[in-house]
Amino acid sequence: MTPEEILNQIAIEVNECNRCELHYSRKNGVAGEGPANAEIMFVGESPGFHENEQGRPFVGASGRYFDELLALSSLKRTAVFLGNVVKCRPPTNRDPQTEELAACNFFLDRQIQAIKPRVIVTLGRFSMAKYFPHAKISEIHGQPMRVRGSLIIPMYNPAAALHLPSLKSTLETDFAQLPELITAAADAPEYAVETPEEKEPPKQLSMF
Ligand code: URA
Repeated sequence: MTPEEILNQIAIEVNECNRCELHYSRKNGVAGEGPANAEIMFVGESPGFHENEQGRPFVGASGRYFDELLALSSLKRTAVFLGNVVKCRPPTNRDPQTEELAACNFFLDRQIQAIKPRVIVTLGRFSMAKYFPHAKISEIHGQPMRVRGSLIIPMYNPAAALHLPSLKSTLETDFAQLPELITAAADAPEYAVETPEEKEPPKQLSMF
């Protein structure tokens, strides 16, 4: 299968998925969107109300803010792949649960394998935790690092800044620097090797 075919297949599977409880309240699964040969992949947290309605990532207020941030980085939305660690909306927009993250990782890993992005930008604590399970986002945002062969740049989630406006200036600075961060990512240091104990998914993620 070509990378496009794999992404299309994943989108079909996401909408038929019943690997976790989130399928009960799903209107539309949100597999993600963007070219199969995207160099940059953004990985957010999970669909919200509008994403569940439309079946697309980052629409509604957080999508409009994401578009503003992307404009600061001079990247085009149509040139990047945009997805989430969890593909179905958690009821009332609650945090995704450990078992939901584990169930949905099956899709995200296949998307990453098909796209083979040069750089993955994680948006928020839950996608950061896939690569940096014990890190604090306040300490590592905006710093490119190499993890298990992938170049990762952790960032705050745009939706978080809508609830906590004090995060806006940090997010805007990080996005404005994104072109340089992407260039710098090629020489990024390897993130400290994890012990088996550290590979356990965190039980509770700190807000910052
Ligand atoms: N919308 C998404 O699709 N993902 C997020 O993480 C936030 C808003």
